[in-house]
Amino acid sequence: MKLRLIEILSPNALHQRFGIALALPTIMALTPDYVDAEYEEVFLGDSTIKINKDTDLVAMSVLTMNAPYIYSIAQKYREIGKKVVLGGMHVSLLPDEALNYCDAVVVGEAESVWNDVIEDFCEDRLKKIYKADAFIDMKEIPRARLDILKKKNYISVAAVHGSRGCPYKCSFCSVTEFYGNTYRFRPVDHIVNEVKNMIDNGIYENYLSFNDDNIACDKKFAKSLFSELKNLNIKWWGQANITISSDPELLKLMYESGCVYLCIGIESVNAKSLTSIDKSMNKIENYIDFVKKIRDAGMIFQGTFILGLDFDDESIFNSTYEFVEKADIDLPAFNIVTPMPGTKIYRDFENENRIIVRDWSKYNNLSVVYKPKLMSADALTKGCRDLYIASNERIRKGYNTFLERVNCK
Ligand code: SF4
Repeated sequence: MKLRLIEILSPNALHQRFGIALALPTIMALTPDYVDAEYEEVFLGDSTIKINKDTDLVAMSVLTMNAPYIYSIAQKYREIGKKVVLGGMHVSLLPDEALNYCDAVVVGEAESVWNDVIEDFCEDRLKKIYKADAFIDMKEIPRARLDILKKKNYISVAAVHGSRGCPYKCSFCSVTEFYGNTYRFRPVDHIVNEVKNMIDNGIYENYLSFNDDNIACDKKFAKSLFSELKNLNIKWWGQANITISSDPELLKLMYESGCVYLCIGIESVNAKSLTSIDKSMNKIENYIDFVKKIRDAGMIFQGTFILGLDFDDESIFNSTYEFVEKADIDLPAFNIVTPMPGTKIYRDFENENRIIVRDWSKYNNLSVVYKPKLMSADALTKGCRDLYIASNERIRKGYNTFLERVNCK
């Protein structure tokens, strides 16, 4: 039996280069030896993709922005009689939509059900939906097959999960919907041994990505992990939330463990807008101090912002820019509100008849897909673009600092 795993890469180099998607390397690790599995990387929108007839089953992982392209690939394989199984965040939240384009959908985590998919396919009894009864025991997470990734497409192919999920409930975030508002972490020795293995096998070269949605939610776990990582002499980047800055010991350990770059959702400098997205842990009055603490601890600070929230008028662009300058944020990222399907904000906008674009390819954080309340869609698009232009030099410098720190320049 021949299985083809197809990964869709973002054509945006900066975005692509920082992160590694672990879904398909994990699927590869779970696939039994009797299956002849091949892995392929395709850039989003590439119209020259070759449909490989020497394939029995195709598997892809779907993000909302990639969904139309992945559906088009799925259709091409189905037209020549091949079966297609889809998984990932988007189809887990919209399995009925996905089943218009594929034969089976893996809803939620794939680890516990992937063997069933393979066995059922081989017995010609593929079901439409595969969904685990419970979240996987974090002790059972397999080592992703990072050796299959095409190194030329990344700065570093080293990536690992320390934890999954997040205990917070920000209304725009798919993580909470996907993981059911849980936060689970792996045994520290499993993570450390996996990293050691990457070093020994040449997978780790310059730096490691922690693919966690929030690496330091549980401070005891995080401190224990960082204390062990200190001994490995690695560099890594990850995502966290702003509450970490109130714990100097955590910041110190984080830096000493090799953290060079931290991505944190600032989201908004407008208090009412923050409340509207349930981001209660962000306190605007502490922002400057918090950013300073993280930068003083030695980490490059990426702050992400969401623009066009319901209490944002056009003054939000100036106030955001002024804050970025004052806080001296190394790498700001400006996103237009994007109501991902399945999230609370999507349901709210839908109930208010404010979703105006249903082409998922436009759910890319740079397009306006809903009716903003206090400005026009054009003003929002322009305001966001102008912020990027005004911060261009800052972003370039921050990115170069990162490359220098990980010896990639
Ligand atoms: S803190 Fe971050 S990961 Fe957690 S729910 Fe909010 S946006 Fe999502």
